Amino acid sequence: MGIPMLSSSRARAVCSDTSCVQRRQAWREGTVSSEQQTERVLQQLEHNVSILWTKHLDEREVSRKISSLQTTEALKNGSCIWHRRFQDTTGGWVDKWIWLGYAKTGHKTYRPLHLVLCQKQGETWITVLTVYDPSHSDGLWDQTFTQRMCWHTDPL
Ligand SMILES: [Zn+2]
Repeated sequence: MGIPMLSSSRARAVCSDTSCVQRRQAWREGTVSSEQQTERVLQQLEHNVSILWTKHLDEREVSRKISSLQTTEALKNGSCIWHRRFQDTTGGWVDKWIWLGYAKTGHKTYRPLHLVLCQKQGETWITVLTVYDPSHSDGLWDQTFTQRMCWHTDPL
């Protein structure tokens, strides 16, 4: 009766909680150079940069039923959706990326995966901190899994 059927249009509501609104503004700052950052990471991958898979990642893969092959596939075909450069406690610069890629799960079926990558200045390898399937955390992401909508639950 004049009310749009949100479920049929698959629209995702943006969380209007004050802290989520603030964090979304901060999030936008991390998305401005996504294309450049995608290039930066892909260039390293093309030159066979070493990948450090953390123990935490192994545990997450097991508990989330994500195989190492799927994670590798998503790393190769993915792109940066968010980036931040910050100084760690020793004053060194660290790059952190959220990376969205897809892993084939069957005939013409793919699952989205988010990988959290980081690299300290001077490191010749990229560390994969964690991996998760954003489609499993309803309401946190928009339908393209590139925009974060809410911070009420931590997908990490
Ligand atoms: Zn929220």
